[in-house]
Amino acid sequence: MEIAPGIHHIQKAKGSHVYLLVDDDLTLIDAGYPGNGNMIVEYIEGIGRRVEELKRILITHSHPDHTGSVVELTALTPVQVMAHPADTTPDGHGQNLVSYLNLFGAVPLPIPFLRRVVADGFLEEGQVFPILGGLRVMHTPGHTPGSVCFYLESRKTIFLGDMVVNIGEYVGASMPFPKTDMKLYEKSLRRIADLDFDIACLAHGQVFRGDAAQRIRTILDGYLKAPIWLRMVRAMPRVFRPRRESRFKEL
Ligand SMILES: [Zn+2]
Ligand SMILES: [Zn+2]
Repeated sequence: MEIAPGIHHIQKAKGSHVYLLVDDDLTLIDAGYPGNGNMIVEYIEGIGRRVEELKRILITHSHPDHTGSVVELTALTPVQVMAHPADTTPDGHGQNLVSYLNLFGAVPLPIPFLRRVVADGFLEEGQVFPILGGLRVMHTPGHTPGSVCFYLESRKTIFLGDMVVNIGEYVGASMPFPKTDMKLYEKSLRRIADLDFDIACLAHGQVFRGDAAQRIRTILDGYLKAPIWLRMVRAMPRVFRPRRESRFKEL
């Protein structure tokens, strides 16, 4: 589905949301679970483009629900995979692997979820790709050390990765994981809340449209008002919480 000119959400992808930026060439933001590869190719062909035009896969962070299908795509076409260095590990042979906790993505186990994903290049704060008028990389650590957001100022659109989730009844700050740094997360969320955008593309849950920046500011306000333990409860998807805590819903 084209959510704005040149910005596609590949809705059939499982795991995290997968976005396709369509310009002179093609760029994928995240790849979801393993098993999305063929479907992503079908989507590309369905809009009249070729998989050979896919030039880069930009990884918002190293959680395996975002990187699972990268290997399937790199097997089909010489696409460049890029991630922030703080979410990669050198393999000792000159390559950098997109990895979480030095485990997911970094160990050669024959389990699809733990596939090795080689980062061909690094994403850095302030880097701008010449896509749809300029796609800016923002290093927004917290959820993971190497989490990034992508800001497409010309379309007033931001890609947030797991900065904010919209799952079922829960809309708010992302949940804490091992290696999550809540202080850095807060700083990153403040940075995002200061930006001007109308559309926020989340990795989990419906896209925010129209009042997207205001919704992020509301989430930030709610997040700052709560003590740390309550922030953590709020950050759990509803499915992990007892029913009576649904009053903590933020929006
Ligand atoms: Zn994540
Ligand atoms: Zn995720």
